[in-house]
Parts: sequence; structure tokens; C-alpha cells
Amino acid sequence: MKLTVVGCSGSFPSVESACSSYLVEADGFRLLLDMGNGALGELQRHCGLYDLDAIFLSHLHADHCIDMCAYFVVRYYRHDGGRCDPIPVYGPEGTEHRLTTAYADTPSPSSMSEVFDFHTVKPSTFELGPFVVHTERVAHPVEAYAIRLEHGGKSLTYSGDTGVSPALDELAHDTDLFLCEAAFTAGKENIPDLHLNGREAGESAARARARRLVLTHIAPWTDPQVNLADARAVYDGPVELAAPGVTYVI
Ligand SMILES: [Zn+2]
Ligand SMILES: [Zn+2]
Repeated sequence: MKLTVVGCSGSFPSVESACSSYLVEADGFRLLLDMGNGALGELQRHCGLYDLDAIFLSHLHADHCIDMCAYFVVRYYRHDGGRCDPIPVYGPEGTEHRLTTAYADTPSPSSMSEVFDFHTVKPSTFELGPFVVHTERVAHPVEAYAIRLEHGGKSLTYSGDTGVSPALDELAHDTDLFLCEAAFTAGKENIPDLHLNGREAGESAARARARRLVLTHIAPWTDPQVNLADARAVYDGPVELAAPGVTYVI
């Protein structure tokens, strides 16, 4: 598996990074995890516009899904006058309605489904291309999922957005790379069931016995070095900060 960080800024884009979006490739299959603000532009550095095979949306907050409206244009109004076949899109209940409403004037209420094949995510296990996928509901104000991808005996677990979550700890058990949000800073923000801070992300990685921790979804107004130090204080494995364009071979 190859993971490319397309965008990793939390809640709103930074000068350096788009919002949440991660490209995962294996056996020539390209799966995009989330498509937040600015992700569609950055994605084109790593992948052709029509080269994605599936999209997973962890939840329907704008910083994880809003560039799907721009991607609708790409697929529905193709430059050559054609229209793309539907690509599988996995998201929570109501994803099609949410995106259609955000777009505001699709030609018909079902236009999105002409280019996106929507699948409703629930806590489950299923096969997607070369991956075995596990999804779990996590702690966030809207229906939100973490995802674990397995391929060739290795695994990648992405938290999406979550507060402290036993389901996330279990999903990330023994995972090779744990891509975990650390939006808050310990001692600064403390809103339950919204986001993790650096220490809590480290504690989750330690409980899960994850082999490597990559912190993501850190907002531009947060000092990432504080969150990094807080995670390192409670987790013995390697920890680093996600950065746009960085790749990991898992
Ligand atoms: Zn978010
Ligand atoms: Zn969110």
C-alpha cells in the first residue's frame, strides 16, 4: 500500500495544505479517503482527474467532503462533452443529499448519482478493490467513521474526526500505520466527542499497539510541535506530523 497525504490541514485550509484528503494505492487501484477544501487541486499533483477508482468520505463536515461538489463538475461536464461512469463513493447516510444541497443547482435531484455510485457506510467489513475494509463509528457530533484498510498482510487505519473512542482503539489494533487526528491541544481545548489532542492521539496509539503514528488534522491556529511532543510523551513508537505530498509505503 502507498499512502500519499494530499491535504492534512484541520477544519480549514492553511497556506501550505488543503483540508483532509489521503490517496491510498495498491495493485493499481486508487482509493481517496476524504476530499476536503482544496483537495481536488492538490490531488492532481498525484493522480489524474479520472484515475480514481473509489472515494471514502469519513463524514459530511465540509473540511472532509466539500470538494466533491467540484469533482461532480469534473465528472458530469467532461471537457470532451461526455460524462463519466459512476465511481463508487462510500459515505454516511445522506451523503448524496448533502452534496446535492451543497452544489445547489444540479440539473436534477439525482444528477450526482449519474457520476457517483453512492454506498451508505455502516460499521462493517467489506472488500473494495484489493483492500479489505473495516469501518467503525467514532465519537463526533455528526455520524463519522474511522476506516482500516488491509492489503498484503499490512494495514493502515485512519481515524477521520473523533474524540476519545474505544472503537477507534480496537480498529487500530496492531495497525502498521495509524493516521490519527490531533486537532486539539491538551490543556487548551477540551470539548468531549469532537476531536483528540496530541496526548489523546498518542494514548490511543499506545492502547492499540499501533506500529507507527502520523498526526493529522491540525488546524493552522494550532502549534503542531506541541501536539507532536504531547503524543511522543505517551507513545513509544515513531510519531510524526502529516505533511502535504509526503508518501508512506506500508
Ligand atoms: Zn475535520
Ligand atoms: Zn468533523
